[in-house]
Amino acid sequence: MSAYSDLITRLIKELSKLPGIGTKSAERIVFHLLKEKSDYGRTLGELILQVKQRSFFCRQCHHLTEAEICHICQDPARDASTICVVEDPKDVISFEKTGSYRGLYHVLLGALSPLDGIGPGELKIQDLIRRIRETDVKEVILATNSNTEGETTALYLLRTLKPLGIRVTRIARGLPVGSNIEYADQATLAQALEGRTTLQGSGSPD
Ligand SMILES: [Zn+2]
Repeated sequence: MSAYSDLITRLIKELSKLPGIGTKSAERIVFHLLKEKSDYGRTLGELILQVKQRSFFCRQCHHLTEAEICHICQDPARDASTICVVEDPKDVISFEKTGSYRGLYHVLLGALSPLDGIGPGELKIQDLIRRIRETDVKEVILATNSNTEGETTALYLLRTLKPLGIRVTRIARGLPVGSNIEYADQATLAQALEGRTTLQGSGSPD
């Protein structure tokens, strides 16, 4: 039996499903919200609703956006001949924070994981191939995570993109093996990008 009322019990249960939030933290958040005199709880609730209703994946790169095409794809100052392929919109944020990348992105919305039933069809790979075919792309940087799924995805992409005759690079291994891009600091990420290497079998550097 819960010591709380039904509504509070439900809220604690829902909050504790969030990443990094256990039951204890969920309880603390609920008490904080109840004590808060301002409209904070209402603002928070409305914002969550709005973000869920008004955030979409960019039609071109699948990064999060509130418009059909995201602000990065729309920026004429970006180098459209380079595409950095990442697993998740969070990774776009990480690379943007380095301030050193001026190309475009392509978000796969996941990584290959046969054990979890995630094959190439579940990722935005066909969209990437179409983009390369339809636009003047010269280099694709594979910036998937350096764990098993990320490496498997990078290898698959290299094989798939090879016939397209473009340069395919992989970010440097400055990132610890098994680590995720979202946890890398900005300097490490900028170095990994800077030190990227051309993968064998893809188009020549210039
Ligand atoms: Zn976009």
